[in-house]
Amino acid sequence: MRENGFAPVPVILIVDDQPTDTLLLQEAVADLGDIYTAHDGAAALALANAHHPDLILLDVQMPGMSGFQLCKTIKATPRLRDAAIVFVTAHTQTDNELMALEYGGIDFIQKPLSLPVVRARAKAQLALRAEAKRLAYYDELTALPNRTLLGDRAEQALHSARATDGKAALVLLDLDNFKGINDSINHRMGDCILIELAHRLQCHCPATETLSRHGGDEFLLMIPDLTSSQALGERVDELLRVVAQPLSIDGHRLQLTCSAGISVYPEDGDNLDVLFRHAEAAMYQAKQSGRGLYRFFSRHLEVDARARHQLEVHLREALNSGALSVFYQPRYDAALGTADGMEALVRWQRGERMVSPADFIPLAEETGLIIPLGRQVMLQACCDAHTLMQDGLRICVGVNISTVQFRDPSFLSMVREALHDTGLPPELLELEITEGVMARDIEHTRTLLTELKQMGVRIAVDDFGTGYSSLAYIKNLPIDVLKIDQSFVRDMLSDRSDAAIVEAIVQMGHALELELIAEGVESAEQAEALKAQGCRLMQGYHYCRPIPFSQLRQQLRTQHCQQGR
Ligand code: C2E
Ligand code: CA
Ligand code: CA
Repeated sequence: MRENGFAPVPVILIVDDQPTDTLLLQEAVADLGDIYTAHDGAAALALANAHHPDLILLDVQMPGMSGFQLCKTIKATPRLRDAAIVFVTAHTQTDNELMALEYGGIDFIQKPLSLPVVRARAKAQLALRAEAKRLAYYDELTALPNRTLLGDRAEQALHSARATDGKAALVLLDLDNFKGINDSINHRMGDCILIELAHRLQCHCPATETLSRHGGDEFLLMIPDLTSSQALGERVDELLRVVAQPLSIDGHRLQLTCSAGISVYPEDGDNLDVLFRHAEAAMYQAKQSGRGLYRFFSRHLEVDARARHQLEVHLREALNSGALSVFYQPRYDAALGTADGMEALVRWQRGERMVSPADFIPLAEETGLIIPLGRQVMLQACCDAHTLMQDGLRICVGVNISTVQFRDPSFLSMVREALHDTGLPPELLELEITEGVMARDIEHTRTLLTELKQMGVRIAVDDFGTGYSSLAYIKNLPIDVLKIDQSFVRDMLSDRSDAAIVEAIVQMGHALELELIAEGVESAEQAEALKAQGCRLMQGYHYCRPIPFSQLRQQLRTQHCQQGR
């Protein structure tokens, strides 16, 4: 660990107008740090500004600026005010001592000077100062430099890069999914992980670079004197690999990954704030591209980041202002020619424009907004299905469940409340969950689905065929419906392998006695082909696009009347 925030060894400034005293003081502290001497206040101030002393041994009585006046000036200068000031004085009156304390001095040394006393006092003050610095500049947990120290080092690095037309880089490293891990183990283990990873990273950073803990599970690396960007990419990749090596804590074997964003001075910003923001944008980009990757900042990223932020702000507003609504796409029983179900699809009317859920659901998932959004959709869907029921139409409503909702501890109670508050019979609610979400944690899935089945709701596997499609788990989970993904339906007439996949899914569905729904049916030919294979239920533009509830209700009533006739 580096000892000092600003310099590797403590800096001591001796200010005395008497050359003999100056020499004595100098001798007393000679091996305690770098020593500077001044014979008057003005010279002392200049030296202090240049070298930021940790300790000032200050004579009270000097011609011109007195020791008290100098002390006052130093305490009023932010970059200097932390220096420990010890007065050296021949006075013994208490008044004098009180005044010195008032001005910010912390100790006195009496003249005539005793070498061992001066030395002992100076040593004690330097030790206190070192401890204060450790607290002010280093992270308590990992002993890495903290934000403040990084800020100071970055300032120096940028200053020298500016002077030499050089480059410097800022790298933000953020552990992937650390919060999830931290919540699932105890916090002491979380701390152990951070300490171990900090140590590993530190071992791979030369002393010219500053690695800091930026808070939580973020580390920031300042690299001065950057020579090549390509070499930098390789360096960061190496750091990511170092983090990814398995670690063992309390007998638990864990493997973490980390994502990194890089910004470079001067092209990506000319001060630390901007460089940090841009490294952060690059880091988010890295996270989105997968885990355990690094990205360099680029201008279009900035535009993306700003647009995303805007979108998030507006989505939050939309949630609260009722600008989100729920459309429905009916699904048809091709044999009977009637609608027997519908899927709830959220819609965002943003001014003139309708924003596609494909564009804002991922953002809602990342920001957690999916939880209130999902609840709104669920309540609306149950309420509308209940309205249809009162019209005499028993239509099952499918509601899409995102992975974040599925993992939310309040998910079951949210579903229960929606049914309770709207009075919808549970068998008229179908939850659409993708294979990927189900397969991620099979035990959690089994527990949750079992509870849902006990409640009486139906479970559909959405986008079936695109994910794991493992027969084993489909067989062992309480599932009612498979929704054949629209990508297979779209190409089944032109692509033999897609046709084969559809056929296989239909056969499998029959064997397991599951209901089958084909999604994205756009033509009569597709509908015919599906029917021929034994798939009866269909959803797609060929039958009906997603429409507002009022329109759907009208359509269903008409259908109902025609059937009645
Ligand atoms: P999904 O669950 O696969 O929904 C079906 C999507 O296919 C819908 O797009 C629907 O409008 C579209 N579609 C229906 N028939 C056809 C067709 O014949 N041809 C084509 N090309 N497309 C068709 P939409 O409404 O844009 O929704 C996109 C995705 O957004 C949904 O995919 C679903 O994953 C998600 N989503 C929509 N609403 C919600 C919601 O309330 N909550 C959650 N968690 N996700 C939702
Ligand atoms: Ca769906
Ligand atoms: Ca789907």
